[in-house]
Amino acid sequence: MKVKGNYINGEWITASSGRERKVVNPSNGEVITSIVDSTVEDTKAAIAAAKRSFYGTREWRDMCPQERADTMLKIADAIDARKEEIARLDSINNGKPLREAECDIDDAVHCFRYYAGLITKPAGGVYNVNKGFGEMHSYTIHEPIGVCAQITPWNYPFLMAAWKLAPALAAGNSIIFKPSSVTPLSSVLLFEIFDELQLPKGAVNLVLGSGGVAGQELAESLDVDMVSFTGSTSVGQTIAQAAIGNLKRTGLELGGKSPNVIFADADLEGAVEWAMIGIFFNQGEVCSAGSRIIIEKSMKDRFVKRLAERANAITIGNPLENPDMGPLVSEEHMNTVLDYIKIGKSEGAVCVCGGERYTEGECAKGYYVRPTIFDHCTPEMRIVKEEIFGPVVTIQTFETEEEAVAFANDTPYGLAGAVFTSDGARALRVIKEIRAGITWINCYNPTFNEAPWGGYKMSGIGRELGVHGFEEYQEIKQININLAPGKVGWYSEKENN
Ligand code: NAD
Repeated sequence: MKVKGNYINGEWITASSGRERKVVNPSNGEVITSIVDSTVEDTKAAIAAAKRSFYGTREWRDMCPQERADTMLKIADAIDARKEEIARLDSINNGKPLREAECDIDDAVHCFRYYAGLITKPAGGVYNVNKGFGEMHSYTIHEPIGVCAQITPWNYPFLMAAWKLAPALAAGNSIIFKPSSVTPLSSVLLFEIFDELQLPKGAVNLVLGSGGVAGQELAESLDVDMVSFTGSTSVGQTIAQAAIGNLKRTGLELGGKSPNVIFADADLEGAVEWAMIGIFFNQGEVCSAGSRIIIEKSMKDRFVKRLAERANAITIGNPLENPDMGPLVSEEHMNTVLDYIKIGKSEGAVCVCGGERYTEGECAKGYYVRPTIFDHCTPEMRIVKEEIFGPVVTIQTFETEEEAVAFANDTPYGLAGAVFTSDGARALRVIKEIRAGITWINCYNPTFNEAPWGGYKMSGIGRELGVHGFEEYQEIKQININLAPGKVGWYSEKENN
């Protein structure tokens, strides 16, 4: 695949540095292609194009809402038409099994369709305000924020692009999008679609390159009105600091260390399989992963035995051949995960499954890690506290509901969590107590375009998806109309002397 460069003001442009970054296939370590490594100047050019588009030509912002919705539907159709190609790209570039990549692209299509539909729906409200200054009519309208910078991680390359671009475009903003430099390829294809559909110049701009240069400039620039970031909590903190210069609107979707609480009355086989979906889907490279299993003591041995049996049966291999698990995204990330496995062993956790790199046959060339289960974990262990972002799960036990909730909330993160039990009242009680933005009862990880996604505590600020995700990209303006124009009579008319 030959990558054309940045997409700025409706043109494909080579970065000014002439430098390139290699993009690697994690299943075999081979270089797929190279992408441009943008400089601060390249990034500034993209910001300037978005600014001209929003504040100057205003083509996208002022487009008739139905026409904008129709354009979004055409984007969805064009993605749908190239679904297989995009899914293969994400599978090759990220390492995710093809069938999982296909689900991502289906979701992305739906995301564009969903936000196309919202464009023409009623928004704002009418308020019954007090009559202190006379009879007033008060109402609100929603307006786009302006120039929006969007920065995404490598774990769901195409889907994260859709989650950001669809609502921001639907709201009428002009955008500069920077994908992860590790997995940029499917985003380039999305911009080919934007180019083919001839979106107004400057409405969508693509900047390829590193977070430290291009990403940092996007977060710092005084010409950017909003930065929306998905990635690690530590980079999220850097973004929040960089954004302070003009107090730009900041949306942060960050890391997690989410609890999966299982009571002894839960269906064993169901809990086991959902726990696997919670931690082994996408190789565990999922922000909402159920990486801490907190299970009632009386059920623990039966559960761990069954979980280990099923984890050992997981197929691992070339993601295009649809195994249960593919490679981790990069050699560097594989080494981070393997380091955590070493740390877990040295901390005294008992590794009951996996715990090593997977090197069978052709997999020796790639970055594969076996599904790993650590039993006998305690709250102070680093593997229980820190986000590993791989197929590694810890097991802790509890004896009372209060203890389960306390363990679940013993984390600076608050992205997701789940409870498994056949006692309906208990399920609702416990889920209410879990301090997290996305929760599940008797399942783990299903995600919907229609429902808000985001974290409490250090897992982020704001929400993506659903109506909330649309409003993140909008300003709300209050408009107050005097229904009795004329004199108010507030100031005295008597002369002072
Ligand atoms: P990362 O934070 O390393 O990078 C994410 C993006 O930020 C990349 O595009 C990167 O180039 C850019 N970046 C890096 N440094 C930057 C800087 N100083 N300024 C601006 N941009 C910068 O994250 P990652 O390793 O790509 O992804 C994994 C992380 O993402 C995990 O922590 C995971 O939990 C999180 N994540 C969260 C969600 C969510 O919805 N909450 C979803 C997916 C991933």
